[in-house]
Amino acid sequence: MFDISGKIAIVTGASQGIGRTIAKILSKSGAHVICIARTENKIIDLVEEIRKDNGLADYISCDVSDSDAFSNSVNTAIKDHGKIDILINNAGITRDALLMRMTEDQWEKVINTNLKGAFYGMKSVIRSMMKNKFGRIINITSIVGITGNAGQANYAASKAGLIGMTQSIAKEVGSRGITVNCIAPGWIDTEMTDELPENSKNALLDRIPLGKIGKPEDIAYTALFLASNEANYITGQTITVDGGRIIN
Ligand code: NDP
Repeated sequence: MFDISGKIAIVTGASQGIGRTIAKILSKSGAHVICIARTENKIIDLVEEIRKDNGLADYISCDVSDSDAFSNSVNTAIKDHGKIDILINNAGITRDALLMRMTEDQWEKVINTNLKGAFYGMKSVIRSMMKNKFGRIINITSIVGITGNAGQANYAASKAGLIGMTQSIAKEVGSRGITVNCIAPGWIDTEMTDELPENSKNALLDRIPLGKIGKPEDIAYTALFLASNEANYITGQTITVDGGRIIN
């Protein structure tokens, strides 16, 4: 498996689901992982679990939609570790509603967390990465950012925005040894998708060629690959990890 020993990684949304699994897999592969989320007890528990497994991890409790709080957290991590090599912008929320019923608050909460949060993260790490002439930025988007989805105009806009932002920043920083990519998960079994009604789940399953729901590990191993030296010639891409859903 890919070796990322000696690398310092930040994973946002690490308290549960995909982010938690990414944090564990990056640490198992040698990285020192800084776990970020708002729910402190869950990230404390994660860091203890990683350390018990002889991995290296710290936590910083922070809301990624708060520009000052997020950049202060990144600066603390840079001060403690001297650099950030890997940034995984994974924190994300949904506030679903059809356009006619979508409130401005639902729109803003989703954009502020999913899109602005990733912008704040990238802005905060980029100087350090440019100085070190190395960086791996991985933004977790969604297939919904490629296809759209009824009832998710806010979420789809945030995830499509991430793809455009990723391509733009990849062009800006490519000459400095920094790659910027997206992973677009399909339906992954986490608390976020637990909320889906049973009939929607069955309809979704029918349209997945591999015939099963994805696991957080499916995303985490893709993130590990993109974070590794072996992925050094890949930038500005969106890798879909969805059991083939998007081709159906
Ligand atoms: P979960 O709801 O299980 O976890 C979301 C994570 O984001 C939690 O750790 C939560 O922690 C954190 N988070 C939310 N808001 C903030 C915030 N303002 N500041 C810091 N952390 C925050 O979701 P998943 O694991 O399923 O999803 C992870 C990512 O993958 C998201 O970006 C999602 O959009 C994307 N995705 C998921 C899919 C799926 O099928 N599950 C499909 C496609 C994309 P806390 O509440 O403690 O802050």
